[in-house]
Amino acid sequence: MIYLDNNATTRIAPEVTSAMLPFLNDAYGNPSSAHEFGRGVRKTIDEARENVAKLVGAASPDEIVFTSCGTESDNWALVGAFESKPGKNHAVTTTVEHEAVSRLFDARGADVTRVAVDHDGLLDIDELRRSLRPETAVVSVMMANNETGVIFPVAEIAKIVKENSDALVHVDGVNAVGKIAVDLKNTAIDLFSLSAHKFHGPKGVGALYIRDGVRLPSMLIGGGQESSRRAGTEAVHQIAGIGRAAALVGDLAPMENVRRLRERLETEILQKIPYSRLNGTSDTSRRLPNTSNISFENLNGESILARLSDLGVCVSTGSACHAGSRSASSVLTAMNVPFSFIMGSIRFSLGRYNTDAEIDFVLEHLPRIVADLRSLAG
Ligand code: PLP
Repeated sequence: MIYLDNNATTRIAPEVTSAMLPFLNDAYGNPSSAHEFGRGVRKTIDEARENVAKLVGAASPDEIVFTSCGTESDNWALVGAFESKPGKNHAVTTTVEHEAVSRLFDARGADVTRVAVDHDGLLDIDELRRSLRPETAVVSVMMANNETGVIFPVAEIAKIVKENSDALVHVDGVNAVGKIAVDLKNTAIDLFSLSAHKFHGPKGVGALYIRDGVRLPSMLIGGGQESSRRAGTEAVHQIAGIGRAAALVGDLAPMENVRRLRERLETEILQKIPYSRLNGTSDTSRRLPNTSNISFENLNGESILARLSDLGVCVSTGSACHAGSRSASSVLTAMNVPFSFIMGSIRFSLGRYNTDAEIDFVLEHLPRIVADLRSLAG
């Protein structure tokens, strides 16, 4: 298998599995227990919190609260932001956010200004500034787009928001962490979401960074875990996993090889395959080092995905299936990708375990697959 779908999820690193296993076997103590057995387990949670804090450049481990996933972190940040600003129901976000953010706003019936992106997927920061109002409770902007890899200048955005309003700033960092550097202490970002399974940790565990001094109401009511910010006995094996994964991906050096492989893949596809087009800025400093979203004119991404899948190659399309019919990706729609290209998109998202031989394999087969499908389509 050749796995090029790392923005969907990543392989659990073997080091991470090893760090989790003791808590699925003998080390089953409750971290809140006062005895030595429980205290040993507590130590693992403390270490994990330190590792995650370091990974995102938090000023203190106390700013990290463990959650069940990126979605929970996003939901909690936004619901909490509204509740901490009574009487304010306006939010500013973008047209390309993940559903964990965009649908939460819909579900709450919030008054939302969605700032548009241009053809390259880049944000108009002046429009964002103009969207701020006295009743804006929260501004939520993703750090990197999961479909195109386009990076938003979140530190600059947070500064602008703070200069022009008293809104809280939330950043969905789920698809950025482990791929590019994050240094929250040097920004004005208040809330930042992350999820372990996107950086070689297990599924079902994430974290929310809550800047010191920001008070969010707890979403879960119960015991006093996580300094009374998120009740429920800690999922220790999961937390051990996110902690080990955070230590692992803090070293960004392997991402340079990922970037090199991605450059080869992208450049050669665009050169070798006629009527192919990059979705997202060609300025690679403004795109994740692992992601290429490429459309093939007048083709259906699903057919390409199926042919690649037959060869053991895993990729994604941006389209979503609703009641048996396909609709275009909302991200590519927001970018005004031309009609003849919008259904033919494939997202290649590479990871630390990919090799040159795997990229060679894709480059050998993809041109033929596209040519075949085009000849079938007449
Ligand atoms: N935000 C972004 C940008 C994502 O890419 C994802 C997952 O695809 C999420 C949030 C949700 O994360 P989780 O799967 O951990 O709930």
